[in-house]
Amino acid sequence: MAQGKLIDGKAFAADLRAKVAEEVAALKAQHGVTPGLAVVLVGEDPASQVYVRNKGEQTEAAGMYSETHRLPAETTQDELLAVVAKLNADPKIHGVLVQFPVPAHINQMDVVAALSPDKDVDGLTVTNAGRLASGLPALAPCTPTGCMMLIKDAIGGDLKGKTAVVIGRSNLMGKPMAQMLLAADCTVTIAHSRSQDLPGIVRQADIVVAAVGRAEMVKADWIKPGAVVIDVGISRFPARDPEAAAAGKTRLVGDVAFDEVREIAGAITPVPGGVGPMTIACLLANTLTAAKRLSGIA
Ligand code: NAP
Repeated sequence: MAQGKLIDGKAFAADLRAKVAEEVAALKAQHGVTPGLAVVLVGEDPASQVYVRNKGEQTEAAGMYSETHRLPAETTQDELLAVVAKLNADPKIHGVLVQFPVPAHINQMDVVAALSPDKDVDGLTVTNAGRLASGLPALAPCTPTGCMMLIKDAIGGDLKGKTAVVIGRSNLMGKPMAQMLLAADCTVTIAHSRSQDLPGIVRQADIVVAAVGRAEMVKADWIKPGAVVIDVGISRFPARDPEAAAAGKTRLVGDVAFDEVREIAGAITPVPGGVGPMTIACLLANTLTAAKRLSGIA
């Protein structure tokens, strides 16, 4: 049987980063504005450290100004909110991202509420979520924005009338993903941990987005032949090579049983190399958008 097309998120993200870098250069040359992104990390979660380092490096590679604030795990909520307030007021900074999860003694919702909606480049504030749901210009969450680009490319344009199923209903991923698919005229179902007959629901879908965090949960017999399958989930396991595993190296596994689903799907993202690289590329694009809006250019 023919295999589904592999959606190359790495290549797509590299193109997007190159376009952002071109626009950043033009913004600097024509308006003297350098977009600035500040990332705040509290604690020493190893995966978050890698994400934050990558964000900093890619921000600079795109010609933007980058600041990383590494705060100790004991940082109090008030101390963190004071850092956010300072960044909200800093004219060099157009995007502020607090890397989640934060330690348990800090309330994530309070941190989100403290972000200036104009600098909320991960689109988490109530203002940006409301704007997205209302069809108004918003800074939209990066991962679903990246998924949407991959879906449009895989389908080759119009999504009108397609049936889409999003598995997962988080504010970061599932809900904004569903809003974006709805705005593109899909018929959208959001499934979650209490959904009944998940395989039956998913089998209806022309587009499946899995954003759960349960390794290889979505099986081949859940998939309508030819469907576009976007795998957002990430689960970490020790590396297969025992020496690498002993050195603490991990491997990433998505929510989709890739090998068997690829036999049925029309197109599918791998993990890694699918959605992941799009997230940072969209973060850079959002920072550019925020810089233009805050400077009164767009
Ligand atoms: P989350 O907040 O933990 O949400 C997970 C969602 O999955 C919840 O809505 C939950 O339902 C649902 N769920 C859990 N078990 C389920 C089951 N058995 N059947 C159906 N639904 C189930 O996670 P998130 O932040 O949305 O992230 C989801 C995954 O994407 C994670 O693995 C995360 O690491 C990954 N991720 C990747 C990127 C990237 O750049 N590639 C970015 C963001 C997130 P309830 O609401 O009912 O509990």
